[in-house]
Amino acid sequence: MTARVIDGTAIAAEIRSAAMPGVEAFARAAGRPPGLGIVLVGENPASEVYVRNKAKAGGNAGLWVDLQRLPATASLGDLLALVHRLNRSDQHDGILVQSPLPDAMGKGASQRVFDAIDPDKDVDGFHPVNVGKLVQGRAHLKPCTPSGVIEMLDRSGITIGGRHAVVIGRSEIVGKPMAMLLLQRDATVTVCHSKTPDLPSVAARGDILVAAIGRPGFVTRDFVKPGATVIDVGTTPVRDRAVVEQLFGHGSPRLEAFAKRGSVVVGDVHPAVAEVAGALTPVPGGVGPLTIALLLKNTLAAAEARSRRG
Ligand code: NAP
Repeated sequence: MTARVIDGTAIAAEIRSAAMPGVEAFARAAGRPPGLGIVLVGENPASEVYVRNKAKAGGNAGLWVDLQRLPATASLGDLLALVHRLNRSDQHDGILVQSPLPDAMGKGASQRVFDAIDPDKDVDGFHPVNVGKLVQGRAHLKPCTPSGVIEMLDRSGITIGGRHAVVIGRSEIVGKPMAMLLLQRDATVTVCHSKTPDLPSVAARGDILVAAIGRPGFVTRDFVKPGATVIDVGTTPVRDRAVVEQLFGHGSPRLEAFAKRGSVVVGDVHPAVAEVAGALTPVPGGVGPLTIALLLKNTLAAAEARSRRG
């Protein structure tokens, strides 16, 4: 069997087009486009790329994107002051603070920042109020990556209800909310993590397997039930040519990409899984574009809700 490839780029484009009339209607009624404030602290190269992609996609979708940069030397107090200013702003409907924050901000800094964002502007869905609402099945702003995965499954005609879904990873931003959203869609959900014994055989019970680990090629064929849908959330830059060659084989286009850039982004799922799975998301071009599309959708939803409240 060769797995059907789920095209995240195309699905993300569908979501963006579907949001377009809403963006235009909001802009006409409000006299301004929906506004998204993105805060980037320091110069982490991966974060620079993520933020650039988010800002570009937001601009193309008709949003006003305000990129606010703070130097790596900024204090947690500086960052919290900026978040409070964006909370008070009438022009900013959504606020996103790009992770990770510089280590110098201290342990627990991200949580303090997420806690400080106005829950009504929390387009990442990380504020405890929004997390609580998510658990209760009444979230307005849901975390973008897991809700992007649900959109992918729905738009690819993959049934969730009544299926067994296995999620590997239990982070606050992907694994836990992913499990919650699958549960709300009537899947039977198993959540695995680094202490799960006999992981391959647990994972192989899944009709839907979501890998959100951050270990290139970790999910091999023995993790996958034949015909299962495999969603690869992992995105790890690999800078070692030997690893790329070992995963993708000689003559792979990924090696050409590596030769050009000196690194490639690799998912958690081993390429050989394509021979076992029924459907599979690629990396890149799978979950990543959905995360951005859902961010735009959340920003519009936040803007509309703010304007309804007046
Ligand atoms: P994270 O906070 O580091 O969490 C990783 C999870 O994987 C943890 O729960 C950890 O278990 C589990 N894990 C690690 N090693 C494992 C092992 N050997 N066996 C089983 N479980 C293991 O990472 P994250 O923020 O959730 O992100 C996960 C991946 O998704 C990363 O590659 C990230 O870059 C990517 N990501 C992609 C997008 C996108 O838009 N495509 C968005 C967000 C994240 P413990 O809890 O036991 O430590």
